[in-house]
Amino acid sequence: MSDPRELLRRTADLAAAYVESLGERPVFPHVDPDDLREALGGPLPEEPVPPEEVVEELAAAAEPGLVAMGSGRYFGFVIGGALPAALAADWLATAWDQNAGLYAGGPSASVVEQVTREWLVELLGLPAESSIGFVTGTQMAHVTGLAAARWHVLDAVGWDVGAQGLNGAPPVLVIAGEKRHATVDRALRLLGLGLPTVVAADSQGRLVPDALREALGDGPTIICAQAGEVNTGAFDPLPEIADLAEQAGAWLHVDGAFGIWAAVSPRFRDLVAGLERADSWTTDAHKWLNVPYDSGIVLCKHPESHRAAMTVAASYLIQDEGGQRVRDQVDWVPEFSRRARGFAVYAALRSLGRSGLQELVERCCDGAARFAEAITELEGVELLNDVVLNQVLFRFESDERTDEVLRLVQENGRVWMSGTTWDGSKAIRLSVSNWQTGDAEIDLAVEAFAQVAGQVPAR
Ligand SMILES: *Cc1c(COP(=O)(O)O)cnc(C)c1O
Repeated sequence: MSDPRELLRRTADLAAAYVESLGERPVFPHVDPDDLREALGGPLPEEPVPPEEVVEELAAAAEPGLVAMGSGRYFGFVIGGALPAALAADWLATAWDQNAGLYAGGPSASVVEQVTREWLVELLGLPAESSIGFVTGTQMAHVTGLAAARWHVLDAVGWDVGAQGLNGAPPVLVIAGEKRHATVDRALRLLGLGLPTVVAADSQGRLVPDALREALGDGPTIICAQAGEVNTGAFDPLPEIADLAEQAGAWLHVDGAFGIWAAVSPRFRDLVAGLERADSWTTDAHKWLNVPYDSGIVLCKHPESHRAAMTVAASYLIQDEGGQRVRDQVDWVPEFSRRARGFAVYAALRSLGRSGLQELVERCCDGAARFAEAITELEGVELLNDVVLNQVLFRFESDERTDEVLRLVQENGRVWMSGTTWDGSKAIRLSVSNWQTGDAEIDLAVEAFAQVAGQVPAR
């Protein structure tokens, strides 16, 4: 019989060795999927394998195919690392193995979500009574927030979407900007609302209020705005959008996957002016808050609509009364059984504190500005965005050179950034979202980029 303590100690050593390697290892592995297949594959064992052996062999076989996403040199997509306290709390959540759907499945898991809710609404400057759901990511946060929106705007015209569904329902007008994130469309699709009415965005990807005004009509309406466009980091003009939403009696939903954290900094707070006037908000903890995957958050100004859209009744469950003292998480999220994700978010906020979070956000934004300034000195580089936050978007004069430089940077392995298409041409994007990224990592990114850019001649 194996010793569970020994197994967990050994596993902790393996995990620590990986975390320690993040400073040095190539950011993206040179790996062949067939080799991974060979190392990880083989027939299903007929007989049990001792846990030590399973873990040792898994760690060894997976190692060559790991991406150093938690490294301060990873600038792709919008990816955070794992703060030590959040990583450790996430381990505890796994060891505790609570079924965090119900208060009865783990009182501490339930209460920690409520405490975290209070901290978050204060940090983000949202209405104090806003309700919360801890989900897998912004994708499911959209599903939850927009389900609350759908329930609310239809209830206002006397239609109970929970009981009657959408067949025969009054039409719901959903409006979103041209540069909304793809997850908004999928959430709407899952909710049976179809694709949104799309209105124009400007060169930075910000929804144009005049275009929104023209798209508005009568009847149940949901407006999807964005705080932080995924390529440029640009913010939709929330004060104007909130005015229009108010006039139209529309529900305003804000995608703040990473951008919402601008709210914690006095330097960047202006970018989210008007945020508190929205009806629902979504964000990720696994991006800029540097909590391990998977961790997203939805907040809602109308707890009764949020709960009505999500609540579930099963006779064997112990139900709360909708109050804040005893809260069953199943009533606020699409999941039923679920892991206790609140612990890691709580630990991240507690370990950073208000000042640490502000410093993290500002340091990342300073890093983005530093990178942008340095690369614009290089021959042929065109900066495409106003670097208002932590994102930098740039390209060369031709798609070919842009693609080739990106490929070489990625292959080089010292840093990693990702590509996109912006207004019809290829571009490279840099996202500074990791708690360990400082000037040294930014300078390394500049150096790695400049080196390969010099190798690829302009056409
Ligand atoms: C990342 C992102 C999403 C999707 O978030 P997930 O956590 O991957 O589901 C949505 N909107 C924006 C603006 C994002 O950056």
